[in-house]
Amino acid sequence: MPEPPVIETLVLQPTPFCNIACSYCYLPNRNDRSVMTHETIEATFVRVFDSGWCAPELNVIWHAGEPLVMPVAWYRDAFDRIAGMAPAGLRLRHAVQTNGMLISPAWCELFRTYDVGVGVSLDGPAALHDRHRLTRGGKGTFARTMDGIRLLQSHGVDFHVISVLTAESLGDPDGMLRFFQDAGIDQICFNVEESEGAHESSLFAEAGLRNRFAAFLDRFWRAARTAGTVRFIREIDAMLPRIVRPDEIDMRNEQVVPFGMVNVAANGDVSSFSPELLGLRDARYADFIVGNVHTHTLPEMLAGRSMQRLWRDIATGVERCRATCEYFSVCGGGAPVNKLTENGGFDSDRTRFCELTQMVPTDLILDALERIDPVLQQIDDPSSASHGRAPCQTSAA
Ligand code: SF4
Repeated sequence: MPEPPVIETLVLQPTPFCNIACSYCYLPNRNDRSVMTHETIEATFVRVFDSGWCAPELNVIWHAGEPLVMPVAWYRDAFDRIAGMAPAGLRLRHAVQTNGMLISPAWCELFRTYDVGVGVSLDGPAALHDRHRLTRGGKGTFARTMDGIRLLQSHGVDFHVISVLTAESLGDPDGMLRFFQDAGIDQICFNVEESEGAHESSLFAEAGLRNRFAAFLDRFWRAARTAGTVRFIREIDAMLPRIVRPDEIDMRNEQVVPFGMVNVAANGDVSSFSPELLGLRDARYADFIVGNVHTHTLPEMLAGRSMQRLWRDIATGVERCRATCEYFSVCGGGAPVNKLTENGGFDSDRTRFCELTQMVPTDLILDALERIDPVLQQIDDPSSASHGRAPCQTSAA
């Protein structure tokens, strides 16, 4: 009898619409202006709470479009409704991943009032950021994103950035660190520009990318620790507790178990596993939709054909990983969406994405541990950083 699901993360799509048009965007429906109704929000939480599968701590991430195109009052209403429905004792935290352009004092007040985790997409200095992160009219977005970041800072809102690394930024770790330091940004997540959904990355296919990223991360990590100005580098600080952990604590990869992550589209359609699957099309898997919150309970979705087929193929891929990969104990079987997009199927193992996100950081940390490298001693308590509460676990930026 399989274990019942444990829902730790709920990704909600308030709208698929995005106000800008980044050149590397993977979202297929970013012109779709439909919005999630409060009936859909309530139906979602009824399904989640009635299932009995909710973990004691639930992260609710508003994402998969630009979440701040919805009004502040819409979130205030949504957060209050959800709080009114939550079972006693549940620790629930909201988070948004935003391009930062629409941040205003009213947003900052909402973030502070409801203790919302905030991630801002920022690719480095203007010359790098504006190469890909463009308005719909083709203009750079750096200035407005930085205005948003300065508002967060002046209002005392804690935030991290997700920075997409391109060929140019990979070659300049010192310049990237200088930029973040000058901007007062001290929590950083990196995503190497990848091929996903509608976007093909030429960088991702390049031979030698693994070594280039390893050199970047090693240099950035050392320089950041020496400077003492960066509190959190996701690739290092989120990986450390997975490597250095008591034997009895299993590695849990919420992307490879049914409803470890529950991803809900604006119309109530539900997918699971990698959140990036929401909105992708594939007839073999019913477009990755396992049900709709208005018509199905979560147990019905779990038992349905779509979920069972996804789970079977994803589980086959995990078993291949377990049998072949020496990084399995820290990775737990990878990201299904990357197996599908890179290898053509979930029932596969190694990807370029896992080389960069799992193997490179693990190798750097193990190497530092072996040499009792001082770079490790400058970390007081990696688990105290805010990353556990931040929407960094998707590769979306
Ligand atoms: S690192 Fe790659 S090959 Fe290894 S377990 Fe993870 S996904 Fe599988």
